Amino acid sequence: MAKILCVLYPDPESGFPKTYARDNVPTITRYENGQTAPNPKAIDFIPGHLVGSVTGELGLRKFLESAGHRFVVTSDKDGEESVFDRELPDADVVISQPFWPAYLTAARLAKAKKLRLALTAGIGSDHIDLEAAIKHGVTVAEVTGSNSISVAEHAVMMILSLVRNYLPSHERAKSGGWNIADCVSRSYDLEGMHVGTVAAGRIGLAVMRRLKPFDVRLHYFQRHRLPKAVEDELGLSFHYEVEHMVKVCDIVTINAPLHPGTINMFDEKLLSSMKRGSYIVDTARAQICGRDAIVRALEDGRLAGYAGDVWYPQPAPKDHPWRKMPYNGMTPHMSGTSLSAQARYAAGTREILECWLEGRPMREEYVIVDGSKLAGTGAMAYTI
Ligand code: NDP
Repeated sequence: MAKILCVLYPDPESGFPKTYARDNVPTITRYENGQTAPNPKAIDFIPGHLVGSVTGELGLRKFLESAGHRFVVTSDKDGEESVFDRELPDADVVISQPFWPAYLTAARLAKAKKLRLALTAGIGSDHIDLEAAIKHGVTVAEVTGSNSISVAEHAVMMILSLVRNYLPSHERAKSGGWNIADCVSRSYDLEGMHVGTVAAGRIGLAVMRRLKPFDVRLHYFQRHRLPKAVEDELGLSFHYEVEHMVKVCDIVTINAPLHPGTINMFDEKLLSSMKRGSYIVDTARAQICGRDAIVRALEDGRLAGYAGDVWYPQPAPKDHPWRKMPYNGMTPHMSGTSLSAQARYAAGTREILECWLEGRPMREEYVIVDGSKLAGTGAMAYTI
């Protein structure tokens, strides 16, 4: 019998939904890179329903309890008195989501004597101290691919909304105004602009593919060059250094994992080398950008706009400067947890649990840390 401790974001303030805006979500069986979508033996939830919050329980309770396991679900995750801290010492498995991360620090991992599996219901395991997980022999897994397109769509939406000045114009209409000059004095066309991605992995490449029909010039920077066929298909220009790419771009979209090679990449120096009036959209991780450097660059006009859905810490404090900085299109961390995405990462979480509980290997692409080293996707995307 295992104890599975699951941390999920709180239910809606208006209560758990009884009805939904739509009756179903499309079934996606295969991703753009050919990987198949999760295929657990069964699921106990309706795709398109809210399973990412506490009451939704990722649809796992029946499956786990009927097999005799103990399943604890909470959203109370911060501070030593939290339910998470109290329940952690005898947990065998921790499930957490990047949207509402249960930070598995070295100190917490040292206290979690029984922990064997830290499972990210989503993508991005930087809320786990990977070095400490390796030290304590904890396997780390995530549901690779499950919400890549969800995030890519969100990034494209944010690029368009910043460049075209959508959000302030919508606010003006909503509040009864009609000053068109105010709406358009910061509004441009995307067509013809240069857009660069930091990282062209699953999400970065999907952003590029979705932007291509807008007749933009596409650029990318990462450590390894993509196959020539992909570069040719999208007309992608490769840059060996991020500094070179940002100099020629009007818009930069950040799609890299957070690790020592990317933390604080967009510092005062890099921001100052960008074209005046550039836009940044970061849906990867907040700490890739310097918090106060971004605010200053927006205030003095080096940046024309910044959007994203990732913050540090999460949830962001009420007085986090990114809530009120000028020309921002921030949202809470939501891009990878649309109802469509939830159906996939809940199924993927179940698939990983089925494997782990039955002693079967999980798919290589879901593995981040295994056998006391970075492995699978973790070995390709992270450094420690
Ligand atoms: P992938 O593993 O598919 O791709 C990661 C890419 O990052 C690789 O192409 C890698 O290329 C590149 N990379 C790694 N290190 C660096 C570096 N130092 N500089 C430049 N590029 C680098 O990941 P995904 O596309 O699936 O996800 C990316 C990130 O997006 C996740 O780690 C997560 O943090 C975030 N995310 C956010 C979500 C949200 O809801 N907002 C949801 C899902 C993910 P190379 O090795 O050649 O450098």
